Amino acid sequence: MNDKFLYLCYIILNTDSIIPSIIMADVNSLEEQKRLAALRSYHILDTAEEKDYDDLTELASAICDTPIALISFVDKDRQWFKSHYGLEANQTERCHSFCSYAIQNPENLMQVEDARHDRRFQDNPLVTGSPDIRFYAGMPLLDEEGHALGSICVIDHRPRLLNAVQQKALRTLAQQVIDKLSLRKNNVDLLKANQQLVQAKFNLQIAISAAKLGIWHINARTREFLPSERLKELYGFYPDEEMTYDAAVSQIADSHRQEVIDAVEASITKGESYEVEYPIVGYHDKILRWVNSTGHVYTNPENPDLSHFSGTTTDITERKLDEQRRSDFIGMVSHELRNPLTAIKAYAYILKRAAHKNNDEMLASNVVKIDNQINRMEALINGFLDVARLGEGKIRLNRTRFDMAYLVRISEEESLATINSHQVVFAPVEFTPVEADQDKIEQVLLNFINNAVKYSPNGSIINVACVTNGGFAYVYVKDQGMGIPLKDQPFIFDRFYRVESEAMKDKKGFGIGLYICKEIIERHNGQIGVESIENQGSIFWFTLPIFTD
Ligand code: ADP
Repeated sequence: MNDKFLYLCYIILNTDSIIPSIIMADVNSLEEQKRLAALRSYHILDTAEEKDYDDLTELASAICDTPIALISFVDKDRQWFKSHYGLEANQTERCHSFCSYAIQNPENLMQVEDARHDRRFQDNPLVTGSPDIRFYAGMPLLDEEGHALGSICVIDHRPRLLNAVQQKALRTLAQQVIDKLSLRKNNVDLLKANQQLVQAKFNLQIAISAAKLGIWHINARTREFLPSERLKELYGFYPDEEMTYDAAVSQIADSHRQEVIDAVEASITKGESYEVEYPIVGYHDKILRWVNSTGHVYTNPENPDLSHFSGTTTDITERKLDEQRRSDFIGMVSHELRNPLTAIKAYAYILKRAAHKNNDEMLASNVVKIDNQINRMEALINGFLDVARLGEGKIRLNRTRFDMAYLVRISEEESLATINSHQVVFAPVEFTPVEADQDKIEQVLLNFINNAVKYSPNGSIINVACVTNGGFAYVYVKDQGMGIPLKDQPFIFDRFYRVESEAMKDKKGFGIGLYICKEIIERHNGQIGVESIENQGSIFWFTLPIFTD
């Protein structure tokens, strides 16, 4: 039924006069929409009969001495009775509803002494026919937000009025109904929240078990350790067996144990997150597994007892073995290539001497080309060997004290001799003492310069500088080349990582140069990084601690 129909109902029922206050009850008004939304939020409509509510109507009927008492909610097109004492029907159309009138004046009790003499109701079928309403008294059910949801009412077949005591009682009963409704709403909301929580927990469990994640909590105050079954499995314990924090730590390989303990402690005390990779030896099964473990402190300022340190642990053994196999293979192949290359180099040297002796210019120029190719190949093989050695942790630093100004000068000479496609501009460098592996630092700087040449257009300028900043030597190489997309920048120093783009199609490489640079610099307690804008250029930089006596 729509509002037009309701309007017609009023017209038909009130043919001789239209009572403005009633007609004005626009069922489409914003207020009415809000009232209906409020009513729905109680989830009361069309629910089963309940003794609690029936007790209230029985009481209302007894106190007011009427044969009928109702708890009625005014819905969009109907009034629906949660309880109907002394009346068969459990709903009527809204246009016949006395309560619709009662809620127009939500603060007050509405009494109709004799409906036959009230123009609003004299033609109402509930008055002209069964149940022959004469007397009506209804107290609106006003909720906390001020919405009149319906009313508790008493009805009689004879004309009359309620006395003051009865009126007060009906008000009190209306408040009782409202209290019950609020309680019900809270329960429903609580139930819903609980269901959502259960569902979220269930989804989380599925995700955790699908990802085979081990999870754990440490109470930040008591240090109580709560590992999941999967975590125990990863550490080689039985699922139903107790695994203490110390027992777990004991299973970590000696080479990594202190690093993990330090990471966890720093995380708990400083509130930082951590992520570490380390090997563990299973407690019972003695199986070696590599794991990746993350942790984070979750603080609860309102209840510090609920603050905890939690994390996840994943099995990364396969990936680690894969990396190991790759590294072994690279190391082996590089070693095998090195021997024939050394022989080729020796023969090239013999040819070079023969060319000089015989004044054979063509041979001499070809030997120079062979030499260049041999040097390229040697650099590549050395790179691969570095990667293999890094994988095994075998790279050794040969530290000496030297001046970075001197190192930059050597690199400048080398660059000027070999690069003629670009303008490499070296800024003057002041005395900058460091204690480091000079060859390796030179390798890093040359790598940056060679990359700048490789990834920027011919003729463009490349700037190289070394300045002192806060106890560190800060070295940078700036180019005007293709730059690096933002999304690739975090991975650019990873092993075998190369940017994939149209511009990169004809650029050859293996993506190991920057990885080696990063390992070298970090082993010197320095930092390495890049700032870059796509199609504008890059600045690759590294820092080294200045040496002081
Ligand atoms: P390679 O040059 O052999 O691919 P690197 O490890 O030296 O290996 O570099 C990794 C990747 O970083 C390169 O493939 C390239 O995508 C990007 N890159 C390095 N230097 C620059 C630069 N100066 N300008 C733009 N991209 C660069």
